[in-house]
Amino acid sequence: MENKKQEKVKCLIIGSGPAGYTAAIYAARANLKPLLVTGAEMGGQLMQTTDVENYPGYPNGIMGPEMMEDFRKQAERMGTDIRFGYVTEVDFSGDLHKAVVDDDYEVLADTVIVATGASAKWLGIESETRLNGHGVSACAVCDGFFYKGLDVAVVGGGDTAAEEALYLANLCPTVHMLIRRDEMRASKVMQQRVLSAENIKIHWNTETVEITGDKDVDSVIVNNNKTNEKSEIPIKGFFVAIGHKPNTDIFTNYLDVDSEGYLITKPDSTKTNVGGVFVCGDAQDKIYRQAVTAAGTGCMAALDAERYLSHKEFMATQEADVV
Ligand code: NDP
Repeated sequence: MENKKQEKVKCLIIGSGPAGYTAAIYAARANLKPLLVTGAEMGGQLMQTTDVENYPGYPNGIMGPEMMEDFRKQAERMGTDIRFGYVTEVDFSGDLHKAVVDDDYEVLADTVIVATGASAKWLGIESETRLNGHGVSACAVCDGFFYKGLDVAVVGGGDTAAEEALYLANLCPTVHMLIRRDEMRASKVMQQRVLSAENIKIHWNTETVEITGDKDVDSVIVNNNKTNEKSEIPIKGFFVAIGHKPNTDIFTNYLDVDSEGYLITKPDSTKTNVGGVFVCGDAQDKIYRQAVTAAGTGCMAALDAERYLSHKEFMATQEADVV
């Protein structure tokens, strides 16, 4: 972290999903003059969502990207310095916390709010990597259009997979859902929607062996884990929707994480094991993972940061009085 341009802020927020923007709105209104560094995907996971029908305040629903634009505008109007950039390194060992942005400049912050969210998980097979961008995708909303009129497969049985399958069912003749157990993890309402869609074909107890194709996807070879029978399904698009991994790798030298990499908070707070560093949203939440809960914890993180700073400033005046 040597020889880089430095700037000092009271509050650095890392991440621009509902958690980060809400933290920014509260921190800015508390006069912490926050700097928010967006991360590679400005707006976070909701940028890849279509209709959001469960965020209070939007009686007719809203598109995910539009909602995040509203969040951004509100954070900016309150006075947040929003910068597109990616935090590549942190150092939480001193009194002032450090973060390197884009390997270019260094921010020194009294408080840091981590709101880095989570990213899509992959199966980890060779053909998935090789054909990524050539038929393999983790985002139906982003890439589904390219498969209009073609058959596709979706892996996973959670709400994300159900949502992706339903989206694709509007574009594709047949959507094959590959589910590794004999039941889905998705909410009942999403299961019902999937099961009643005429062109979604569910393959229970089915695991992906390999995706075939030289330049583009031609088919997927699957294995039924009950009968151990393999079969080949011709498809042109292969969508992976098997959950998410928290984006916490750059923090693990300093912050406590659980076995899946989620940052651990102290009870009833957003405090981490390092004073002045707080975490909100999906980076610490593997249970609820909703936009509204992420926003709620973003608010909590800003309040915790503000209290931490007030206390620190009060202690500094006490020490000055003693001297
Ligand atoms: P989930 O963890 O809920 O589901 C993951 C799915 O992928 C499960 O069916 C799981 O199977 C399967 N899976 C995991 N690993 C593999 C693998 N290696 N091979 C094959 N299948 C695999 O993740 P989601 O992203 O679906 O949802 C995350 C959270 O976000 C949930 O709380 C969900 O409710 C929420 N959500 C809400 C939405 C909404 O309200 N509109 C939309 C999307 C998500 P198994 O069950 O066997 O583990």
